[in-house]
Amino acid sequence: MERTFIAIKPDGVQRGLISEIVSRFERKGYKLVAIKLIVPSKEFAQKHYHDLKERPFFDGLCDFLSSGPVLAMVWEGEGVIKYGRKLIGATDPQKSEPGTIRGDLAVVVGRNIIHGSDGPETAEDEIALWFEPKELV
Ligand code: ATP
Ligand code: MG
Repeated sequence: MERTFIAIKPDGVQRGLISEIVSRFERKGYKLVAIKLIVPSKEFAQKHYHDLKERPFFDGLCDFLSSGPVLAMVWEGEGVIKYGRKLIGATDPQKSEPGTIRGDLAVVVGRNIIHGSDGPETAEDEIALWFEPKELV
């Protein structure tokens, strides 16, 4: 069954949005197969966002991801990679539709509260980076 990696970033955890976000995935009908709260190191954040290393915001992004607890999760279900991104909304909360997580709960791109894998290969890579196989139920 299809799986994706979803993370609530430090701003979402700090703002108390865990239950709000988890419940949106649960109510949709997806299945939670792994979850843990961790503070990633900066090196770990750089690995997670390696595709963006040439971008001007890369350093600040990695500093931010490693600035506090992140809720790392794996969600499972038909079409969860693409539909999970739909639930999340556009990268820039100024452009995310109302009804999406970022559209309803975030304002600026540097504090957009949640991450979701953008395709089958990144989902596989990100799940392997954040979790050991035995952590997935
Ligand atoms: P994510 O990978 O976090 O799910 P995304 O796939 O919607 O987000 P990416 O292009 O992968 O968007 O960018 C990764 C993250 O980098 C964004 O979520 C955002 O926090 C940050 N980011 C993207 N563009 C900018 C920008 N122009 N300025 C500052 N931060 C940015
Ligand atoms: Mg991305």
